[in-house]
Amino acid sequence: MNQTPILQADGLVRSYTLNRGVFSKGQTVNAVNGVSLTLNRGETLGLVGESGCGKSTTGRLLLGLEPLDRGSVRFASELMPDIKDPKWKTLRTRMQMVFQDPLSALDRRWPIGAQIGEPLDIHRIGTKAERLERVQALLADVGLRPDQANCHPHELSGGQRQRAVLARALASDPELLVCDEPVSALDVSIQAQVVNLFAELQQKRQLAMVFISHDLRVVRRISHRIAVMYLGEIVEEGLPDEVLHSPLHPYTQALVSAVPHTGRKQKRVVLQGDPPNPASRPSGCTFHPRCPVARPMCAEIVPALRAASASRKVSCHLIDAPEQKEVA
Ligand code: SF4
Repeated sequence: MNQTPILQADGLVRSYTLNRGVFSKGQTVNAVNGVSLTLNRGETLGLVGESGCGKSTTGRLLLGLEPLDRGSVRFASELMPDIKDPKWKTLRTRMQMVFQDPLSALDRRWPIGAQIGEPLDIHRIGTKAERLERVQALLADVGLRPDQANCHPHELSGGQRQRAVLARALASDPELLVCDEPVSALDVSIQAQVVNLFAELQQKRQLAMVFISHDLRVVRRISHRIAVMYLGEIVEEGLPDEVLHSPLHPYTQALVSAVPHTGRKQKRVVLQGDPPNPASRPSGCTFHPRCPVARPMCAEIVPALRAASASRKVSCHLIDAPEQKEVA
């Protein structure tokens, strides 16, 4: 694997001001709060966490689809241009996003083949005949029949629609895919097939991928590394086996304990309460109001995300040396 990072994000911060609601108007929500990550070429990073933890916003920030309040994103060593900069449009062919709901990602009035070929038309890649040939090759790559090029989105199943969305994302031969919950709208019986397809194509094309999901089992199947997010921050990052079999952060331990069949014998850790309102973040470690092993210092001092071993980073005051194991 080539170790030159294709993507380097440093200290990403993105906040929103609420404009609705009598009590919340004018409040600031920190959706992403200091996220840093690196993605190598041909590598898949799984981004997991509960709904509302900031993983989707992080995905959009990585592609420059949303402006940053602070921090920086580098794609292939170049600073990500502003979305209004013509350079960003050129970069768009090299990085693509796959969204959760394939039906809303596709135009219901257009046949699938035309939609898959649209990026090729826009960027005038190849002759008309070459573009048609390429669409047929993409259909085959994602497991759709040649005649399905003439189908409209509503004539396909959910799984087939997501295959079509993936084919369109791959049309411009990107180096990076950011996939935001790409299988969570699909039936469980279809999810495994589509995840396998993402994994196959990632390997075949040596794509770099950020795979966002709330489901640890899905992320484990496809990722080379996993990053766990809580309230807009990465709290643990490591190899899938490490994170799933010996989670270090108490939040990761609770997430993993809720997943059946991870091969890890552990009592279910039930967290107290809901994730806090991001508009009023707890002091110190933001996880402290729900943490089963919190100490007084946790409410006052923010833990840094730091190395717990060569391949793992954790932000918890109780994990401060590589030789330390689990806290619970
Ligand atoms: Fe729990 Fe404290 Fe670690 Fe935060 S820093 S996860 S509150 S033990």
